[in-house]
Amino acid sequence: MMETYEDIRASVRALAAGFPGEYWRTLDRERGYPTAFVQAMTKAGFLSVLIPEDYGGSGLGIGAAAAILEEVHKQGGNGGACHAQMYVMGTLLRHGSEAQKAAYLPGIAAGELRLQAFAVTEPTSGTDTSRIRTTAVRDGDAYVVNGQKVWTSRAEHSDLMLLLARTAPREAGEKPHDGMSVFLLDMRQALGHGLSIRPLRAMINHHTTEVFFDELRIPADSLIGEEGRGFRYLLDGLNAERILIAAEAIGDARWFIEKARTYATERVVFDRPIGQNQGIQFPIARAYAATEAADLMVNKAAALFDGGAACGAEANMAKLLAADASWQAADMCLQTHGGFGFAEEYDVERKFRETRLFQVAPISTNLVLAYLAEHVLGLPRSY
Ligand SMILES: Cc1cc2nc3c(=O)[nH]c(=O)nc-3n(C[C@H](O)[C@H](O)[C@H](O)COP(=O)(O)OP(=O)(O)OC[C@H]3O[C@@H](n4cnc5c(N)ncnc54)[C@H](O)[C@@H]3O)c2cc1C
Repeated sequence: MMETYEDIRASVRALAAGFPGEYWRTLDRERGYPTAFVQAMTKAGFLSVLIPEDYGGSGLGIGAAAAILEEVHKQGGNGGACHAQMYVMGTLLRHGSEAQKAAYLPGIAAGELRLQAFAVTEPTSGTDTSRIRTTAVRDGDAYVVNGQKVWTSRAEHSDLMLLLARTAPREAGEKPHDGMSVFLLDMRQALGHGLSIRPLRAMINHHTTEVFFDELRIPADSLIGEEGRGFRYLLDGLNAERILIAAEAIGDARWFIEKARTYATERVVFDRPIGQNQGIQFPIARAYAATEAADLMVNKAAALFDGGAACGAEANMAKLLAADASWQAADMCLQTHGGFGFAEEYDVERKFRETRLFQVAPISTNLVLAYLAEHVLGLPRSY
């Protein structure tokens, strides 16, 4: 996303300067939530750029949102604590009723309502979402929810949750993904009344959790759109998510490259800067080339998305290439730093761990490749 949205990028850079490596390092050690950073992002209006002006947002496209997240990561920060506030509302915006949109979107745009829990993944279903076991059964003017989610990030820092649950058995539908529905769940009312959350300590500071539903009654009007079509509603949002995560990976890659370039220039061993050795400079150059190429695909996917065109292939390729570029840059940066790459105070090891996530979530590399093989190249479905 180079040389685009320069004004927005400059504002993000100014904001990020108030949250240096030390801020993120301390939180990482304590597994703390970056409350001050999220508040600053909210106040600056960066988290509501995708919400239309009618509902209090700034009505910008995915390209602007990508520029914001790329810049956060390029400055050494991490958007994972709040990026979902930008895009999870997309399902509500596209498929919610007028009443639901009027009730929630202005509060989300203002940051008074946090919608950043997105509960799809379950322990037993893996990537095969059609196998989820959480159910929502209609009972009068309510649905009764039972089941469990895992890796529900930011659930402890959210007021609302977008929940995917089965309202009909898998076998009852024409297709495996039929019979799932999506709900906008008000967690404030549900906590302690059938909803419980357990933090899941992980390799990175991602505020992720396990969520349990035990006879949780939610109002029937929590349902978004029609019953049984929930998976389809989520699909539109997944392209947005992939493009934005790809932008974060590009930001990470650029942080690693700049960090390595600086260190390679300053570090003198055998009476010469280590960056004078081709063994050090070529991997930096290679990572740079990979990042620039991946960024072109992120730009292409964002332009297609903002133009309302189909972009499944491009969004997936953007995610694949950007995640690979950031991981290549991370490995290069750690190697360039030698032993100091392992020292917390350089932030390299933290960013190294953080950027590794993009190979797995929100969709793992193999599943992107399987998508391209089957849906773009017409090869037989492999699973
Ligand atoms: C830090 C973190 C935060 C997350 N946040 C959220 C969140 O907020 N909400 C949410 O719903 N989910 C979240 N997730 C879950 C994430 O989306 C999944 O972990 C990811 O999609 C992979 O699914 P899985 O873990 O079930 O892996 P599995 O599906 O069990 O796959 C395991 C491995 O096998 C491979 N594999 C599986 N099937 C095939 C196949 N047919 N061909 C080739 N390879 C295959 C996969 O690529 C993967 O490498 C998060 C995960 C993490 C780690």
